[in-house]
Amino acid sequence: MKNVFIYLSVCLITGLLVVSCEEGVQGCIKTAWFADVDGDGLGDPNVSEQACDQPEGYVSNGDDADDTCIGTVDVCGVCNGMGETTWYEDADGNGLGDATVFIIACDQPEGYVANSDEMSGSGLHPAFAAFDTNNYTIYLDEDMVVIESNGWPNHTSPYWSNTTARSASGPMGGTLTTPAAAENHPLFVEPTATSHEMMAPGNIDDFNGAYVLTVPIDPQLASTSTSTGLGPIGMAVSGSMIYNDEEGPNVPLDNAVPSLDYTAAHTGPQSYHYHLEPKAWSDDDDKLIGIIADGFFLYGRKCASTGGYPMDLDESGGHTSPTQHNEDGEYHYHIQNELYLNEYYILFPGDYQGTPNAIR
Ligand SMILES: [Zn+2]
Ligand SMILES: [Zn+2]
Repeated sequence: MKNVFIYLSVCLITGLLVVSCEEGVQGCIKTAWFADVDGDGLGDPNVSEQACDQPEGYVSNGDDADDTCIGTVDVCGVCNGMGETTWYEDADGNGLGDATVFIIACDQPEGYVANSDEMSGSGLHPAFAAFDTNNYTIYLDEDMVVIESNGWPNHTSPYWSNTTARSASGPMGGTLTTPAAAENHPLFVEPTATSHEMMAPGNIDDFNGAYVLTVPIDPQLASTSTSTGLGPIGMAVSGSMIYNDEEGPNVPLDNAVPSLDYTAAHTGPQSYHYHLEPKAWSDDDDKLIGIIADGFFLYGRKCASTGGYPMDLDESGGHTSPTQHNEDGEYHYHIQNELYLNEYYILFPGDYQGTPNAIR
């Protein structure tokens, strides 16, 4: 009797399967289809259906980690995310992170922030807070300050890539052409002080510069001064380089002035650089211009200690007095209030009064 029951049960089950198969399309093999709610071609592995033909809104793969994300989900599970983030320690809780202490993680750890903008708390001179944090990385290495720049300015210029091609005569003859870009860089402005025809070859974003200057925390005046050379002699707060009053070997700056933009900068063999008072952020005032390669800061034509033009400057435009960054006073340079070509002020025409360090 028991054997008969088992036999009947198997018959019934087999029969049901036959009926079920007969109801389907003949010769069809059902496969799994996965819901694709966000329409990115990737299906949700947790929402599937068995069918012969592809149902509307379903795809044949179950590869979508997040079916509400059009695009890809990063390792942190964020739709179109950038992956893990660098988090910097904010030990003093002021919202500014320490560039030297960091963790790479998806989620923000307690006591950490996403920026590395801490300056004063790290022992750096307060003047470094004026340096553009997008273009600079500045940190202490024992008793030295390491200043790294990408060489780009943080302000507008006609030297950003733009849709106007231009040609210039090369120093060795021939013509150097700067091709037109497909679109203007967001910081591009039409030339005003110069013209497309007079501009030097090369756009700012053609130079993928990396500059490093290492100076002592407490630079000292040297017993003898040292003349500056061609190439960078300092770094401006904007991110770009400071040059002296020469354009090249036996090429006086006078010849290059027509190529300077409204902020007295132009592109050169390796970088966009300033020769004269940079009107983009300093015009007859006491603003911080940057740091010279001997470690002393360079300020505008006026001094914060008196609010006027300092009268006690040495031949390099330097003196020791309080500044807006050091009320105790320290040696620093100024742009000298002496007219050049009747309308300009040369940034740094003198010698280094300290010991220059190479800008690599
Ligand atoms: Zn130049
Ligand atoms: Zn001063």
